Amino acid sequence: MDLAAELTSLLGPDAMRTGDAIGPYLTDSTEMQGLVGRADAVVAPADVDAVRNVVAWCYERGVPIVPRGGGTGFSGGAVPVDGGLVLSLERLDRVLSFEPELWRMQVEAGVRTATIHRTARGSGLLFPPDPGAGEQSMIGGNIACNAGGPHSFKYGVTGAWVTGIEAVVAEGRLIRVGGPLRKDVAGYDLRSLLVGSEGTLGVVVGAWLRLLPAPAAAIPVAAAYADEQAGVAALERVYAFGLVPATLEYLDEGAVDATRGAFPGGLPEEARFLVVAEADGTIEGASALAAELAEAFADGAVMVRTMQSPAEVAALWRWRGGVTFGVEAQMGGKMSEDIAVPFDRLGEAIAMAREVGRAHGVRACSWGHAGDGNLHATFMIDRASPDQITSAAEAASDLFARTLELGGTVSGEHGLGWVKRGQFDVQFGPAEAALQRSIKALFDPKGLFNPGKKIPPAPAS
Ligand SMILES: Cc1cc2nc3c(=O)[nH]c(=O)nc-3n(C[C@H](O)[C@H](O)[C@H](O)COP(=O)(O)OP(=O)(O)OC[C@H]3O[C@@H](n4cnc5c(N)ncnc54)[C@H](O)[C@@H]3O)c2cc1C
Repeated sequence: MDLAAELTSLLGPDAMRTGDAIGPYLTDSTEMQGLVGRADAVVAPADVDAVRNVVAWCYERGVPIVPRGGGTGFSGGAVPVDGGLVLSLERLDRVLSFEPELWRMQVEAGVRTATIHRTARGSGLLFPPDPGAGEQSMIGGNIACNAGGPHSFKYGVTGAWVTGIEAVVAEGRLIRVGGPLRKDVAGYDLRSLLVGSEGTLGVVVGAWLRLLPAPAAAIPVAAAYADEQAGVAALERVYAFGLVPATLEYLDEGAVDATRGAFPGGLPEEARFLVVAEADGTIEGASALAAELAEAFADGAVMVRTMQSPAEVAALWRWRGGVTFGVEAQMGGKMSEDIAVPFDRLGEAIAMAREVGRAHGVRACSWGHAGDGNLHATFMIDRASPDQITSAAEAASDLFARTLELGGTVSGEHGLGWVKRGQFDVQFGPAEAALQRSIKALFDPKGLFNPGKKIPPAPAS
């Protein structure tokens, strides 16, 4: 029997993706960099038992497994670069339990991020992690990447909201770590190991999520500056004044220029740097914090605007969600990184990203989650120009080296996946790298879960 026939008899015809239906499973958000994989088979099992069966089947035959959520990742993690079986979690899309009075939800891995937000909201609750592309990305993918987003400044990243995970690991074994409990220090923290493991340790099939009563009010305050120094100083004053907004975002000059026309209510012509914070809490608390933020932002600003009405707030976040697309539209393509540095090095990192672009002859800009020191340093390119793609890739290499010099990391939220695997042995010293490789070998002795991603083969010594 051939591979497809064996899988069909194992999983049923509804689980098989064949012909033209395979195309969308061969790329993720790195498609623009030309990354397109090839799969020996693409399957979408209907339930956890079917995931166990297919993993056991792959483990017996030595077939690589590429777990896949919504395919929105920015690091090529879900791309089957070297064949194998793409295992899509899209049919595990059930909310298994939602107990609003206990602030918790149990979901399967294929539930979309936006569905979790809407379900929680409907009962006055909040699931804070908010990576973009929420209608496409899935909770399993968010867990596998430990995804962040604007609101992680106050609330933390995905892992902070996951109290338990069910995963299918080597040989098709189902493990459960944690559960609907908020504290658990009985064993090693395997839950945290699976969070951010990018499909290299096993397949997440379900999770228990912690929720929070939603704040009654959320009031964004935006401020514009004529120069970067004034903008960075304003960000630093938020820390210095001890203010804790839910989000603390920034856009540098290139990112402002790319999105200026769409900013709700317009921007003054002199605006070259933008800061956006959101005060949330009770109606009184959020109003008081918004006033304090406006005061902290005032020095040197050419605009400070507090947004009150639901329409204004929605328009602001719609605009923020479109920043990545506005930047991409400048040249038709972009290579966007997600470096992070200690907060006190943010100003240097913003300037450095631009200098690196200049040195390599590519237009550069950055924006991102300022409060977390997390920059989307971006090289704008014509995606049809191989020269520009090469220059941007060289610029990215330099960017990573200089980020490490600033005490930062090459990835604050997207993971290394395939495109940044070469940075693993640059960022980690031999002792840390060896420990991480031992963990991978322990979970995945045959090296079949997402091979080559995140942790590349050890360099020859
Ligand atoms: C417009 C846009 C904005 C974005 N904004 C943000 C942002 O603000 N913050 C942020 O952190 N990210 C952001 N991202 C990146 C991306 O949305 C997140 O990384 C998201 O969490 C990926 O989820 P996914 O379901 O699409 O995963 P995929 O792309 O399908 O997979 C990502 C990785 O997870 C693995 N994986 C997926 N599902 C599973 C599973 N069930 N078990 C084991 N491994 C699995 C894959 O093998 C791959 O390595 C953005 C992307 C886009 C397109």
